[in-house]
Amino acid sequence: MSTLKAVIEGKCPRCREGHIFKTNAYNLSKFYKMHEKCAKCNLRFEREPGFFIGAMYVNYAFTVAIIVMVGVVLAIFNLYNFYSLISTIIALVILLMPYLFRYSRIIYLHMFGGVSYEPDYLNHP
Ligand SMILES: [Zn+2]
Repeated sequence: MSTLKAVIEGKCPRCREGHIFKTNAYNLSKFYKMHEKCAKCNLRFEREPGFFIGAMYVNYAFTVAIIVMVGVVLAIFNLYNFYSLISTIIALVILLMPYLFRYSRIIYLHMFGGVSYEPDYLNHP
């Protein structure tokens, strides 16, 4: 499994088989709940206390990308004004919030978790 596929499917960065989150993104009461450890290779996802605070920077990058894209799309269709920009951004960020939250953590874990893909880990831990 490629890194991109592991990130998209929310899989463990070491074995790429265990799921990071407990439910799907639109289970609104539980979308944020993570497994403490990988069910397959036992990797602890929260690498150190407060590890996922850094995922806030990934989420910030996603939000800036949304703001730029909404601004460009509104300008292309000649609908650009302050209220259409703000209301579209707020609606999109609220609708995409479960995905933004989860993918910022998944990407942060894959990039800064300090573990790399070990295809044979499950056979030879
Ligand atoms: Zn794993």
